[in-house]
Amino acid sequence: MSAEATNPVSAAEAAVTDTGVRRRGRARLELRRIGRAALLGATAGPAPRDRLPDAISHVAEAHRAHHPEADLSVLRRAYVLAESSHRGQFRKSGEPYITHPLAVTLILAELGAETVTLTASLLHDTVEDTEVTLDQVRREFGDEVAYLVDGVTKVEKIDYGAAAEPETFRKMLVATGDDVRVMSIKLADRLHNMRTLGVMRPEKQARIAKVTRDVLIPLAERLGVQALKTELEDLVFAILHPEEYETTRALIAEATGSGSPDALAAVAEHVGTVLREADIAAEVLVRPRHFVSVHRVRLKRGELRGCDFGRLLVLVAEDADCYAVLGELHTCFTPLISEFKDFIAAPKFNLYQSLHTAIAAPDGAVVEVLIRTHRMHKVAEAGVVALGSPHGTAPDQAEPAEGPDPAEDGERTDPTRPGWLARLLDWQESAPDPDTFWSSLRADLAEDHEITVFRADAGTLGLPAGSTCVDAAYAQHGEAAHACLGARVNGRLAPLSTVLADGDTVQLLLAQDSHSGPSPQWLDHARTPAARIAITAWLQAHPEAAAQPAAAPRAPLSVAADRSSGAELHADLDGAPPAPVRPAGCCTPVPPDTITGFRVRGGSVTAHRTGCPAVDVMHRLGRAVVPVRWGDAAHCRVTLVAESFGRPGLLADLTEAIATAGAEVVSATVEPPNEQRVRHTYTLQLTDAAELPNLMRAMRDVPGVYDVGRTHRL
Ligand code: MN
Repeated sequence: MSAEATNPVSAAEAAVTDTGVRRRGRARLELRRIGRAALLGATAGPAPRDRLPDAISHVAEAHRAHHPEADLSVLRRAYVLAESSHRGQFRKSGEPYITHPLAVTLILAELGAETVTLTASLLHDTVEDTEVTLDQVRREFGDEVAYLVDGVTKVEKIDYGAAAEPETFRKMLVATGDDVRVMSIKLADRLHNMRTLGVMRPEKQARIAKVTRDVLIPLAERLGVQALKTELEDLVFAILHPEEYETTRALIAEATGSGSPDALAAVAEHVGTVLREADIAAEVLVRPRHFVSVHRVRLKRGELRGCDFGRLLVLVAEDADCYAVLGELHTCFTPLISEFKDFIAAPKFNLYQSLHTAIAAPDGAVVEVLIRTHRMHKVAEAGVVALGSPHGTAPDQAEPAEGPDPAEDGERTDPTRPGWLARLLDWQESAPDPDTFWSSLRADLAEDHEITVFRADAGTLGLPAGSTCVDAAYAQHGEAAHACLGARVNGRLAPLSTVLADGDTVQLLLAQDSHSGPSPQWLDHARTPAARIAITAWLQAHPEAAAQPAAAPRAPLSVAADRSSGAELHADLDGAPPAPVRPAGCCTPVPPDTITGFRVRGGSVTAHRTGCPAVDVMHRLGRAVVPVRWGDAAHCRVTLVAESFGRPGLLADLTEAIATAGAEVVSATVEPPNEQRVRHTYTLQLTDAAELPNLMRAMRDVPGVYDVGRTHRL
């Protein structure tokens, strides 16, 4: 890989520094400058005893900028141990090995990490690659540093073989569950390794890039570490899509080359003037998009205009100023309202906050604008890295982000203990084999955002976008969700396959007995690893259920017994011969329903329930009403419709309930399932019409059945 390719953003940055408008947050540029300086400085030879070694002085400088009171002596001790123990080891590039932990530590220092993280970062490869033991780290630097170093130390290949990589990630994620700083170090470690990947064989580059894409980048996104995420994305892009990368690089070079008119800078000036005139103190910056972002916007818009190569970033002091800026922009420019998003009122799950909008430039080009406070900017760039110790013990702990009240909803507002991580740690326990864990992990992380649904009883559930009621059931009830029969979404009965939207209220209906289990079809509706793993395990333990066909037949199933007579009906016909009276098929009246009779062709009489819609129709047709009444015999025929969620054995259970209630099935129709809901229609012969309410109750009690009613129309 060329030197340029190892650092793809540098071309864009270098090309635009002479425009007079600040292009990017100061932190990003510092991060890169100091990162390179550290690599050079590390070879500068032994340090004087009375001050920090030169190689670590850049780390110290960066650390002091965020934490003026920090105790630097511990960093010096860590550096001395790391340097002496790695001495004689070299990177594949030929540089002394110590350049690697130094560069990783600088990345973290620039993002505002606290001292414990930096100490552990300097030592992060010692236990894995040198004679230093974990006990020694613990004795010299304390439990927290030892915990972090252990968290990022690989499991032994000799013990795990091919499973070493998945098991290393599993170990790291479990350690991250108790201290998110483990993942901060891992992300910075991977960033530096990706920056220097060019020395590896192409196959190895591609393999590492894919794991970075599937696992590390989603983790950086979820932990809100935008600065690391964007650079990792570009590095992966260059390796896995070299042609698109080259096209994008050429487009950026052309658009930002000297002599090109700078469309965004002109809009930035204009916006700055508007805000000054409105008396709003704000910094207006042009932020170049990273390569992958330019590539995405090119795919979205088809072609690129000058304003597509970056966005405007407006930084203000107070939350309220964000809305003031928005108001001015929407007044003085033409806003594209569809692009407006308020991530301040509704922060993303990773704590990202900003207002997003877009305005039309005078030439019609679209300019995307991000509006945020300085604090929001820091959180957006550094995410959890800047949040300090999750234990709250670090003396120089960074000021925690002031989000919404954490008590309100722990899921969203404690970024050091995110809900998605807790769920991931839950399901990984049920995935003992490394292959299942590894594929489930990548599938889980591939979901790019979360939704929050409200539980009908209390509380909320955080789920990946695209989750269904099946996922909600397992997220809320664990293995008890095997007995799930159905769900109400926003108060309405909904099939388990229903895809939930952010803000939906979901109530899960569980069978009281333990007979029912998940159907194989649930796997089609389960998107979360927790649900998939639990359903698969149950089906493996119950092969007879897995082998069953769908819960209900695919084609309508009808059975009909002989048509014996219904309840006794009489028509009172003055000066006319008696006529046979039949219960109308549309509403199947039974005693003691109020009934209305009509004479129909052929001379017979049909009796409808008085409320049946057919009665109105007959009146409009001018059909004569015939007085009808029930006879003495109590037996009757009735048609009932049972609405239910499909499951194996449902038909058997329903007919059993009907027989137990003393009714006889005259005919039955089972419609093919529609999104797991099935409709059974039974025409039943009862010996006593008074038993009808009991019969309907017995049918409703069958697990899976949520409604039983009389038909109005067959
Ligand atoms: Mn490392």
